[in-house]
Amino acid sequence: MFTIKTLIDDIDRHEAISRALEIPATERDELQRAVLAYGEAFLESLPARKTYEKAGYRREAADDFFTIDGEAIQMGPVLDFLDQRVDHGGLNPTAAGHLAYIPGGGLYASALGDYLAAVTNRYAGVFYAAPGAVRMENALINWVAQLVGYAPGFAGNLTSGGSIANLIAVATARDAKQIRGKDLHRTVIYASGQTHHSIRKALKIAGMEECIFRTIEQDEHYRMDPKQLREQIRKDQEQDLQPFLVVANAGTTDLGIVDPLEAIARIAREYELWFHVDAAYGGFFLLTAHGRDRLRGIDRADSVILDPHKGLFLPYGSGVVLVRDGRQLAAANRFEAHYMQDAREFQEEPSPTDLSPELSKHFRGMRMWLPLKLHGLAPFISCLEEKLGLAQYFYRQIRELGFETGPAPDLTVVAFRYVPADGPADDFNRTLLQKIQTDGRIFLSSTLLNGRFMLRVAILSFRTHRVQVDLALQLLGEYRDGLLAGKPSNGSLTEE
Ligand SMILES: *Cc1c(COP(=O)(O)O)cnc(C)c1O
Repeated sequence: MFTIKTLIDDIDRHEAISRALEIPATERDELQRAVLAYGEAFLESLPARKTYEKAGYRREAADDFFTIDGEAIQMGPVLDFLDQRVDHGGLNPTAAGHLAYIPGGGLYASALGDYLAAVTNRYAGVFYAAPGAVRMENALINWVAQLVGYAPGFAGNLTSGGSIANLIAVATARDAKQIRGKDLHRTVIYASGQTHHSIRKALKIAGMEECIFRTIEQDEHYRMDPKQLREQIRKDQEQDLQPFLVVANAGTTDLGIVDPLEAIARIAREYELWFHVDAAYGGFFLLTAHGRDRLRGIDRADSVILDPHKGLFLPYGSGVVLVRDGRQLAAANRFEAHYMQDAREFQEEPSPTDLSPELSKHFRGMRMWLPLKLHGLAPFISCLEEKLGLAQYFYRQIRELGFETGPAPDLTVVAFRYVPADGPADDFNRTLLQKIQTDGRIFLSSTLLNGRFMLRVAILSFRTHRVQVDLALQLLGEYRDGLLAGKPSNGSLTEE
């Protein structure tokens, strides 16, 4: 048996070692300098960095460094390793030339916000534990809800991204409409063919995979056709099925198309469907007059999601879910736990844990609040206006270059392809895309439109300006000409 003396000796021996976790001020200073210098060097190197590097995919001997082997090492080698094996290879989402998928960005003010949030480690899940942090997150949710046009009574949550936000919304809809397991086979969900896959994933995770999923036809502009929606709902009702949920897009990932939200809202109300709007990509265009016009009707949604790591240029890890009747969000996330009883004492503000699946969580409000406070709103609004203008500019210029385009952009995505006089167009555009990827200065992606291979640009990084769009046009024109002339065109272009 331990005597109290041996117990104390043992504790003290461990304390001497465990104290290494508290870094003394002088060493902190050194570490901070090294890390900040690394961040600075990274940002300064951005103009010279490629947007896409076909590297880093194969494992190298240096990658043994990833393994947690229990050894303690210095910051110097760690930063060297990050530079070589983590911050190179694949896509560089901070690059101004990122025009693929839906670009992110990564505001520097958010990085500082993350630092502050982690150092102070406020417990932002519960108002009782961190009244200021929860107030900050609620203020952000209120701001976004006002942007959407919700009247008081809503509730929301800052999530880690759009997929989780969609999951929370779908689970809330399920509970609000009291969908039970025995009803699934006759419960119907409606969405356009352009709906993001995270909706299907959310339905699966929320236990609704067995529901009937109706893909509603799109009009010639790839918007969900409300007439088809109404007809399908009627048909389903006649067959004694139970129409439950309609998902509309405020900016599809493929084409940036906004569905006719007002018309869909009317139908949803008439047939008592839950109306969910996925505005992960397009939501923050509500800060612009064009966006408000395009997204008219979004305030009638029962739930909405937006991604600040898209339209507000935050680093990845930031989504928002809003539910018009906040009681429904609370009901879907209700819990009881006796060890939480103290938290019930102060309920002046709603706690994130009462409105989401999370308990302990990242204080992610800080990374969103800090840039909005430090910059004010004006640069965000202009940045979004600029991107809308750039998409129109690209749409016109690429047609001037002789390319065929998809629909005129609702927001900031343009799909296009070149149709050569002879040979299959799909192969030609696939090769053109490979040329652009190998060049790496800008990064584009592709999609299928009516079965055709299309290239696309999505203009949303805060660092993307006219110079990058002009470079994209220049490269597309030159590589296209090179391919048509049948010569290897890589050599003719000078790196900027
Ligand atoms: C990006 C996106 C999502 C998924 O959001 P994540 O933040 O990547 O999880 C969902 N819907 C749309 C329309 C999107 O553009």
